[in-house]
Amino acid sequence: MPTVTKFDPRDRKIKILATLGPASRDPDMIARLVKSGADAFRVNMSHGEHEAHAETIAEIRKLEAKIGRPIGILCDLQGPKLRVGKFKDGKAVIPHGRHFTLDRRDEPGDETRVQLPHPELFGLLEKGQRLLVDDGKIRLRVIRAGEDEILCSAEVGGVISDRKGVNVPDAEIPIPALTEKDRRDLAFAVEHKADWIALSFVQRPEDVAEARRLMGGYGALMAKIEKPMAIRHLDAILELSDGIMVARGDLGVELNPEEVPPLQKRIVEQARAAGKPVVVATQMLESMIESPAPTRAEVSDVANAVYDGADAVMLSAETAAGQWPQEAVTIMDRIANQVEKDPGYVRRIRLTGVEPDATTSDALAAACSSIASTLRIAAITVFTASGSSARRVARERPSVPLLVLTPSTTTARRLALLWGVHAVRTKDIGSFEEMIGKGKRMTLRHGMGKAGGRIVVLAGVPFGTPGATNLLHVVNLQGNELDGYEDPSSDD
Ligand code: PGA
Ligand code: MN
Repeated sequence: MPTVTKFDPRDRKIKILATLGPASRDPDMIARLVKSGADAFRVNMSHGEHEAHAETIAEIRKLEAKIGRPIGILCDLQGPKLRVGKFKDGKAVIPHGRHFTLDRRDEPGDETRVQLPHPELFGLLEKGQRLLVDDGKIRLRVIRAGEDEILCSAEVGGVISDRKGVNVPDAEIPIPALTEKDRRDLAFAVEHKADWIALSFVQRPEDVAEARRLMGGYGALMAKIEKPMAIRHLDAILELSDGIMVARGDLGVELNPEEVPPLQKRIVEQARAAGKPVVVATQMLESMIESPAPTRAEVSDVANAVYDGADAVMLSAETAAGQWPQEAVTIMDRIANQVEKDPGYVRRIRLTGVEPDATTSDALAAACSSIASTLRIAAITVFTASGSSARRVARERPSVPLLVLTPSTTTARRLALLWGVHAVRTKDIGSFEEMIGKGKRMTLRHGMGKAGGRIVVLAGVPFGTPGATNLLHVVNLQGNELDGYEDPSSDD
């Protein structure tokens, strides 16, 4: 088993979110992915059974306990995504120009037909409308739509496989934001203590509010932006969510693909201004599903998401079902490292400046960042219970490492998706002296500062009061702070 511990902060600010699936959910591969750079894992509720997901989550938690490093888990609800049924051989090839039928028969499909298990589509679709399968790779046009069968012509054919997604951009489909399956999956995610729950095909702010209500105060909610309607309500959706995903797969099918890059930039900018983590997702290293090396264009795409200042980049099928999961994470890690070493990166990321809100917390977060670029500071060390002060500091995109110390395991795990943060769970503190002592000790122990260096400590007193960030202290590191605290595995 490869080793990685809490004493190895990543050498990069942007986080890597990797989807686990058949190609990667065994314990050894999960450990390899963490070692290679994965900070958080996505469990995709669109595929697989609860039992398998529960095992995957248990394996992640086991690894986490073993290496003593918080790992984020995001349960991604399928949402009202339309999918085809299954195939006899798991897949079939639809030739270009040939007829292909979608029907209601619960039988494995072949190159002429497959089940479309969505009764609401029958009788609703009309001649001439498009059905886009597998992120638009296959294009079917309706010739005749009946109550039991939809006969199509395959304008663009190709390989179609089990449960591939279908978008119907020409029709408005009356389906609720959370399906029955989503409600069951959401309950599962809460029960298994997922740190994040992602909501697919959000259209309206009410969709987010409904999910929030079902979560009952538990967990953080990520809204996936993949519908034109969500773009129109972006401000309100962002306001109600804890994080945002630029879900480019469906977004690029629901809209024209060329509309996605400007939207990616706008969504990243807006989420960052709000101090909420934003994930750029889908097809980032798509060719690595089959190839051990990415295309140049994919490398550029990942690099540009880093330059945009996203909090995290995501791998989907590359790690869930691909042949090179570990290589995909490794490449992503290398690209991010290279970009963040570019002196132009800091300049670019500051192009989109953020205005502090008129709060003590924001004034101090801005001051941290300013001190870090005026003095030679080794790290910004933040004490936080809820993670709120860490988010306000990360929003400034400071140039030095961010060490976050929190008594809350949930907060530490949730921060796995926040830009620049190395979160460590530690015991609670009671006094100012204790805080300064621990701040110094942890910075040294985690290799973020050296004797003679200086750190900025940010905290709120009285300790443990959420939102009370009111204390900023510049501290010198002597180097002897670890004396008497030799046990590197303690979380004191
Ligand atoms: P999905 O979401 O992988 O669940 O479809 C991401 C996307 O649509 O980009
Ligand atoms: Mn999607």
